[in-house]
Amino acid sequence: TYPRSTAGMMMQQQRNGRIPVGIGRKRMRIVVTGGAGFVGSHLVDKLIARGDDVIVIDNFFTGRKDNVMHHFGNPRFEMIRHDVVEPILLEVDQIYHLACPASPVHYKYNPVKTIKTNVMGTLNMLGLAKRIGAKFLLTSTSEVYGDPLEHPQKETYWGNVNPIGVRSCYDEGKRTAETLAMDYHRGAGVEVRIARIFNTYGPRMCLDDGRVVSNFVAQAIRKQPLTVYGDGKQTRSFQYVADLVDGLMALMEGEHVGPFNLGNPGEFTMLELAEVVKETIDPSATIEYKENTADDPHKRKPDISKAKDLLNWEPKISLREGLPRMVSDFQNRILNEDEGKGQ
Ligand code: NAD
Ligand code: UDP
Ligand code: UDP
Repeated sequence: TYPRSTAGMMMQQQRNGRIPVGIGRKRMRIVVTGGAGFVGSHLVDKLIARGDDVIVIDNFFTGRKDNVMHHFGNPRFEMIRHDVVEPILLEVDQIYHLACPASPVHYKYNPVKTIKTNVMGTLNMLGLAKRIGAKFLLTSTSEVYGDPLEHPQKETYWGNVNPIGVRSCYDEGKRTAETLAMDYHRGAGVEVRIARIFNTYGPRMCLDDGRVVSNFVAQAIRKQPLTVYGDGKQTRSFQYVADLVDGLMALMEGEHVGPFNLGNPGEFTMLELAEVVKETIDPSATIEYKENTADDPHKRKPDISKAKDLLNWEPKISLREGLPRMVSDFQNRILNEDEGKGQ
């Protein structure tokens, strides 16, 4: 057990002593777990730009220092190499809990570690939130719906998930993380927020993590065929990362626990996505069909009416607008890789 009352008093004193940011708002201290990753680093950029202090906790499993390096030397930014599976003591106002490998290649690499991150990592961050009275936001996933029997998916749908499959470490892990968040909310009064994120893309995605958008974009740049798994008729809905970051912040600042679907309802088959990538990067790119992976959901599309109504949020950037925004970042990183190989 930890000295809750002393820590609470310290928090209050710190809050009272803080410099106002803008009109009517105190500067906050915010933890972003997984802040060196793809989504986390964009969130960190926006929180720093808003004027808050940000502490990133990351074990660099899939994250990179490059993603946050532009904040090094900024006194409002702090980076801690730490694994959320281990407890940690901090004093903050808000916790954005993102730490967890997100792409199938990464989360299947060590499935037991993925479960530990989702369960023990989330438990530790909720324990931290409880002790210091911080607001806690969990980034859950559309994968909690499994291979959905309801289309599009609403938050009221309980899902169709295989508990013993190769994806279970991730989707059952996130389902347990949601359960933990709700139990800390009901049992300990922690102010929690739950986001169910649908497929998101943008600059800083890992180059070779096997996700479809990063694969297609990297393949088109490298002049390789675009690998379409199965018949390519399965669908996904792709959200640009800046829209997601706006949604996460609206959720944290709002009054509602959720869960909220955060995604772009524009639905594409993988073949349609390949067409958009061709139009954007290289019209001469070819397609190569490959066998699909096990338990691959056939379709996925968010119903976002709840987030529209209660958070006043909806995505603004379409796939055709968003894709070009990640191309130069991918080109630069692929070029650097190639130069590295030549040395
Ligand atoms: P990412 O892999 O780029 O980022 C995850 C970050 O967490 C990395 O920086 C990684 O090093 C860190 N991390 C992993 N395990 C950790 C541990 N045990 N301790 C400390 N740090 C750890 O993935 P992302 O796409 O940025 O995803 C961020 C969050 O959003 C994840 O929780 C993911 O489940 C969720 N999400 C993402 C998507 C998407 O399409 N990108 C969709 C649904 C949900
Ligand atoms: N925890 C933490 N930092 C804190 C407070 C708690 O990492 O500031 C961890 C703690 O080590 C425990 C988990 O969060 O593993 C749950 O804490 P809680 O107090 O809810 O439960 P308990 O410690 O009684 O199991
Ligand atoms: N996919 C594909 N080619 C690739 C990578 C993935 O056709 O090179 C397909 C995959 O089978 C799935 C969809 O794209 O149907 C989305 O896969 P991703 O791993 O990006 O996300 P998730 O399955 O987690 O939604």
